[in-house]
Amino acid sequence: MIPFLDLKKLNSRYEAAFQQKMKTFLDKGWYVLGDEVGEFENQFASYCGTKYCVGVGNGLDALVLIFKAYIALGKLQKGDEIIVPANTFIASVLAILQADLVPVLVEPNEVTYNIEPNLISEKITPKTKGILAVHLYGQLADMELLNAIAKENDLLVIEDAAQAHGAILNKERAGNLANAAAFSFYPGKNFGALGDGGAITTNDNELAEVLFSLRNYGSKVKYENDYIGVNSRLDEIQAAFLNVKLPHLDADNEKRRAIAKRYMTEVKNEKISLPVWDLSKNHVFHLFVIRTKERALLQQYLFDNGIQTVIHYPIPPHKQKALKDWNQLSLPVTEKIYEEVLSLPISPVITMGEVDFIITILNSF
Ligand SMILES: *Cc1c(COP(=O)(O)O)cnc(C)c1O
Repeated sequence: MIPFLDLKKLNSRYEAAFQQKMKTFLDKGWYVLGDEVGEFENQFASYCGTKYCVGVGNGLDALVLIFKAYIALGKLQKGDEIIVPANTFIASVLAILQADLVPVLVEPNEVTYNIEPNLISEKITPKTKGILAVHLYGQLADMELLNAIAKENDLLVIEDAAQAHGAILNKERAGNLANAAAFSFYPGKNFGALGDGGAITTNDNELAEVLFSLRNYGSKVKYENDYIGVNSRLDEIQAAFLNVKLPHLDADNEKRRAIAKRYMTEVKNEKISLPVWDLSKNHVFHLFVIRTKERALLQQYLFDNGIQTVIHYPIPPHKQKALKDWNQLSLPVTEKIYEEVLSLPISPVITMGEVDFIITILNSF
């Protein structure tokens, strides 16, 4: 079986370095917010090109805390509306709700799968205060247009960069393309820990200061609390593992692109639509998503041939039981995408022999 993603193989490349980190960690006996978290925050900020990186518990918390920090700073208020793509992983929408803000769902562009900037203006009301841009599947959202729309309407722009670590637009990396950005280091992401982890990047001093406090009970000085904070700190041992992996992120993304290039040029089957890859956008291919009207048949055919695939995602956020107030919304582009997408195996540890086989099987469907 060719697994969709072989995490054990992916991480075994660094096993010796992880063991060394583990030994140092045990010898030191400092378990929370230690040197590894500090070093990671410096290294990741420097990698993204931002002034600050704030390590947090996971990607969802990274998003929620950005919104809560803007509320603490008086730049957002309970009930403000945030524009968000309808075609996203539900965490983007949950974060807005958990900060007592109102998500306004906007249809995607059917070629990029990211939010369609031309549909945003009609959704802007006096309550609209921000845009949450999601770089879906590893392809950057149209940040130039989104930032222009935001500037014109005095909106904040926040990146959900959970699927786009390392992606570059005009020499700037994801994480440095808006007011603030949220990252996830969930193991399956392009840059993953060996457990949960997340971070926020920003160039905004005030925002960073509130975030360093919010993640730690709203406290800067121990037992003195300035905000109604949470406990969501990047774990020390996860930071240590991430410090080992960060120098290899660009090479890993390059491997993903090499595999994507092969799928793009060698898969030739009229029943299968390939993604459209804008070369100027430096896609990092968190996922390689194809479309077909015969998805169930194709997925079964691949499975019968020993190839595991996954659907990202089977139910759109507005059709989830959790979001019952949004269930009646009509978002036909999003709904069609959810019926047709299928993600092929793509990872830095798939062999070219495996890619050959996947392409042959796809072409024989
Ligand atoms: C993974 C992901 C998140 C959430 O990250 P967690 O670390 O799992 O909480 C948020 N947004 C998007 C687009 C994601 O893919």
